[in-house]
Amino acid sequence: MDLPDYAIEAHGLVKTYAAKGPSPAKTALKGIDLLVPRGSIFGLLGPNGAGKSTFINICSGMVKKTAGTMKIWGRDIDERARDARAAIGEVPQELAADVFFTPRESLETQAGYYGVPTAARKTAALLAALGLTDKANAYVRQLSGGMKRRLMVAKAMVHSPPVLILDEPTAGVDVDLRRQLWEYVVGLNKQGVTIVLTTHYLEEAQELCDQIAIINQGEVVACEPTSSLLRRLDTRNVVVTPDQPVLAAPDLPGFETRLRGKDGAFAVTYRTGQSSVEQVLAAVRASGVHIKDIATEDPNLEDVFLSLTRTRA
Ligand code: ADP
Repeated sequence: MDLPDYAIEAHGLVKTYAAKGPSPAKTALKGIDLLVPRGSIFGLLGPNGAGKSTFINICSGMVKKTAGTMKIWGRDIDERARDARAAIGEVPQELAADVFFTPRESLETQAGYYGVPTAARKTAALLAALGLTDKANAYVRQLSGGMKRRLMVAKAMVHSPPVLILDEPTAGVDVDLRRQLWEYVVGLNKQGVTIVLTTHYLEEAQELCDQIAIINQGEVVACEPTSSLLRRLDTRNVVVTPDQPVLAAPDLPGFETRLRGKDGAFAVTYRTGQSSVEQVLAAVRASGVHIKDIATEDPNLEDVFLSLTRTRA
């Protein structure tokens, strides 16, 4: 069979949650188009309430769309719901551990649920890949939070889906474990698995994702390769370390400012076509701040994110 160009393809996707009691109806996705190229590590970013979980939950079949079309691995979720769902492994945000199972049992049960024949199961390999071999027969309730999360990734992969979706996989996870998890995920991607992830860590997304979509208030405000997204901004930052640390970044007319780091430094963003470092420094001085040191830096994903989500937030 020909492989699809897109692991996920959504057109005109709408989701309206019905009114419930005092809560009015809410349109969480306003007719979005989103293409996830096969083989990519695709980051889905956006502020809280943007619609990321809604999108992911439509992919995994947990939420029913209101209108529009979606294909997963070329399979229409209306016409071939089961096939579409089988193409996806999902690691949910919540740690929903089966406390009465051991990791080995948990993976076996999940494989059974997906109809994976005993001979084709990869329980031992998955446990090993996620560093859980020596916990294979422990009760899940005895595992640390990090181990439980790794177990959830293993569970998502029991049926060898071509697409793996991770919803905030590293929220509240320590740095070492985060690295370990990413190594595994990047390894899967090298083997051809398309990865879709949501994360609040923009640095992480910048480092890992080759494609990024930014959603804001139910609309896609950007969807492109990470490198082109970063090139899109004609901004640079000047990071100012003041003589006396400031508690709040000064308001500078015509410039974006925000606090940076612990020592009372702040960043000033300017448009390269419109202003110069000289003008930034003049504005800083005019605000009464004495400058101890400055550095300039290229825009990062956080700047892109702020500039795309600020106007309509
Ligand atoms: P995100 O994952 O980006 O934080 P969500 O998809 O969870 O955003 O939510 C998008 C919008 O839809 C929010 O305004 C949220 O309050 C609303 N929403 C999400 N789930 C439900 C639900 N089950 N019922 C009603 N409204 C919901």
